[in-house]
Amino acid sequence: MSEQQTFDVVVIGAGPAGYHAAIRAAQLGLKTACIDAALGKDGKPALGGTCLRVGCIPSKALLDSSRQFWNMGHLFGDHGISFKDAKIDVEAMVGRKDKIVKQFTGGIAMLFKANKVTPFHGFGTLHKGNVVKVKQHDGSEVELKGTNVIIAAGSDSIELPFAKFDGDTIVDNVGALDFTEVPKRLGVIGAGVIGLELGSVWKRLGAEVTILEALPDFLAAADAEVAKAAAREFKKQGLDIQLGAKVSKAEVKGKGKKKEVHLTYTDAKGEQSLVVDKLLVAVGRRAATKNLLADDTGVKLDARGLVEVDEHCHTGVDGVWAVGDCVRGPMLAHKGFEEGIAVAELIAGLPGHVNFDTIPWVIYTEPEIAWVGKTEKQLKDEGTPYKAGSFPFAAIGRAVAMGEPAGFVKVIAHAETDRVLGMHLVGVGVSELVHEGVLTMEFKGSADDLARICHAHPTLSEAIHDAAMAVDKRAIHKAN
Ligand code: FAD
Ligand code: NAD
Repeated sequence: MSEQQTFDVVVIGAGPAGYHAAIRAAQLGLKTACIDAALGKDGKPALGGTCLRVGCIPSKALLDSSRQFWNMGHLFGDHGISFKDAKIDVEAMVGRKDKIVKQFTGGIAMLFKANKVTPFHGFGTLHKGNVVKVKQHDGSEVELKGTNVIIAAGSDSIELPFAKFDGDTIVDNVGALDFTEVPKRLGVIGAGVIGLELGSVWKRLGAEVTILEALPDFLAAADAEVAKAAAREFKKQGLDIQLGAKVSKAEVKGKGKKKEVHLTYTDAKGEQSLVVDKLLVAVGRRAATKNLLADDTGVKLDARGLVEVDEHCHTGVDGVWAVGDCVRGPMLAHKGFEEGIAVAELIAGLPGHVNFDTIPWVIYTEPEIAWVGKTEKQLKDEGTPYKAGSFPFAAIGRAVAMGEPAGFVKVIAHAETDRVLGMHLVGVGVSELVHEGVLTMEFKGSADDLARICHAHPTLSEAIHDAAMAVDKRAIHKAN
């Protein structure tokens, strides 16, 4: 082993949480190293974590390609546009996605260089005294000591014991982003974010998609009316979502191109079976903390393997912090970004902070689903008095002109103070619109503030304006 190298900050993991922490620490003048074990499809180190390699960015690239294809068959005709024999070249589509991934993973390497973050490519293990031993890809080992260590190890897919990933027929997100052809029949276990997004990709390209969800409610974390409206649209698109479906068996039968997965599940009607060509298992993710900690570090993992931290992402061990998917809170890239920045700032003596009440959620299906803040159910359960106003995109000129009238915006405000407590949206472009809700909540604004802010016409954002006016039953473009 080479001599120990010392840093102000050593970050384990170069995903969204880790690379934000590393770059911000370096910007603040701290001598920073960042270790990452991941390799890209070309076998070379690829920074950026799950998000850039096999998560947010590649899934959005495929969602966009498949949306263009779907619109050709389902929207173009209304505009008077016709064409003959639309075809999808899956290899070209996946190649485009890979190019985007490479551009962004390479971008992180360039940002590290520009900010003087020292990268180490290999697997890091934390030892007592803030020492991180790194097994590098070439077999060599280096030892780094950080005045501070930030753990940003991220998460991995949860595997079901009866449906082990084989990278071909039974896959997680990694495999489902790289199918070489459109599966005729795709089964998905889990109607969560990945199941809906990647199920949509392959449905739009022509697969028969059946999603088996164990819970009886669809998208239980979302506003109930939003979930209902989205379910209606998914049904129209032909996504078959079976709720209350508990899968007990997944057997791969056949060989080569004739491989099939035979699924057995039970629902309210009793035992059912389903045969598919590919199976995507998307039942959640767990912290990637296996082999991360030596026995003597004092850093604690909870029962789910998450690193235990306080509200400032501190582990309780002097100079050891943890951020992103490997700690409590939503497993979202932007939550990791904010935690990474906050910890770097805290280390530098600045007041770093993350406001968990205003973290937006977005599901990039068609229609998109987005929300920030509390749902009506949460407010009812906690006994907070509230008022709500909704406005449909079907009454928004821009949405109708785009041929995208599905969905609505709901603004929820406190019944007495009028302060905005939540915004729930389903429809076209709501991944961008939700930030009006985030801003209003961050600035402690009211529904009346939103209603009195001039929104350009004709835009989709007018739905927010009208929903805010509807909170006090004064929306102009609908009966209140
Ligand atoms: P990760 O991104 O998982 O990065 C951790 C990194 O650390 C990895 O590169 C890993 O190799 C490395 N590592 C782990 N342990 C070690 C070790 N001991 N030594 C060295 N390196 C190590 N979120 C959104 O907000 N929006 C989306 O649209 C979205 N889409 C998604 C789509 C899919 C298909 C998936 C799977 C996830 C998606 N997510 C999305 C979630 C998002 O990707 C994660 O929340 C985010 O990547 C977490 O960031 P992180 O830095 O905590 O961990
Ligand atoms: P998820 O938690 O969103 O959904 C998992 C679903 O699987 C749940 O509905 C759950 O009830 C169901 N489930 C669990 N066990 C099951 C079983 N045995 N049989 C049938 N259903 C079962 O998890 P995910 O879709 O795997 O995504 C993981 C995480 O990645 C998400 O929680 C999210 O934080 C992140 N992500 C975010 C985005 C985004 O922000 N747009 C996109 C993809 C992933």
